[in-house]
Amino acid sequence: MTPVTERIRQSLVHLHMARALETLDQTLGRLERGDISAIEAIDELLAEELSLREGRRIGVALRTARLMPIKTLESFDFSFQPSLERNRIMAIAQLEFIGRAEVVHFLGPPGTGKSHLATAIGVAAVKAGRSVYRCTLAELIEALARAEREGRLAEKIRFYARAALLIVDEIGYLPITSGGANLFFQLVNARYEKGSMILTSNRGFAEWGDVFGDPVVATALLDRLLHHAIVVQIEGASYRLRQHADLVPEHTRAHANLTPPPLPKRRGRPPRRETDDQGPG
Ligand code: ADP
Ligand code: MG
Repeated sequence: MTPVTERIRQSLVHLHMARALETLDQTLGRLERGDISAIEAIDELLAEELSLREGRRIGVALRTARLMPIKTLESFDFSFQPSLERNRIMAIAQLEFIGRAEVVHFLGPPGTGKSHLATAIGVAAVKAGRSVYRCTLAELIEALARAEREGRLAEKIRFYARAALLIVDEIGYLPITSGGANLFFQLVNARYEKGSMILTSNRGFAEWGDVFGDPVVATALLDRLLHHAIVVQIEGASYRLRQHADLVPEHTRAHANLTPPPLPKRRGRPPRRETDDQGPG
């Protein structure tokens, strides 16, 4: 080992460039054999280190954002939900709504992929370097209520207002007390026109009065949440039940197909087949 390579090694140790240190011998070997030029060797070491760090950053960010287990748009079978326009979802996944502090609503019956899509867009946002946080409405309200009891509500609202994208999943499954609705309203107000959100719900907006146990707060919530909004209505069958449709009671199946109003635009058109068109584009 020459004094120069020893010095490089020491420098990499001090710079905490573990991956570059690990690949140093291999890269130098390729350089000595003439497989790569000196400039390519530098590039290779830096690229190795960077990709390790980027992978680590994404892993940490996905966990802190609570986006595990991760979902992706590539693994979403659009042919199973013909009411859903793939291009529209892919446009949302370009993430411009985050910069515009808009609210994306995914509405539809259980199992139609609302959480999957919300998580997949969250994962794309993390990869793009945006800060993301995901929770259910019940978790969010519980955390705010606890913070209020402990006299640190303002701090908690600042926490939930901080992420560039806040995903609030499962609106409508559990009834919310009017105190809870009030706390959620304070958070929505704090984020209004400042930070983007993705909301998922199995209930139409007309039912939010029931969901939040208070028609006045529900109206005020919707006023803000629909001002700069993208509404994606998913119709159709549950992906969870796709192999067991024959075992599900008739009234459950009927309900699953009944909840969202039909999209007038698509009526009469045959479902599109997109089986050989899975990648992002
Ligand atoms: P929802 O939130 O609407 O109740 P989920 O997004 O949780 O439904 O979907 C239920 C399960 O089915 C998840 O594991 C999800 O990944 C999967 N899933 C739903 N729709 C699709 C789809 N079109 N393609 C692939 N997986 C899907
Ligand atoms: Mg869900």
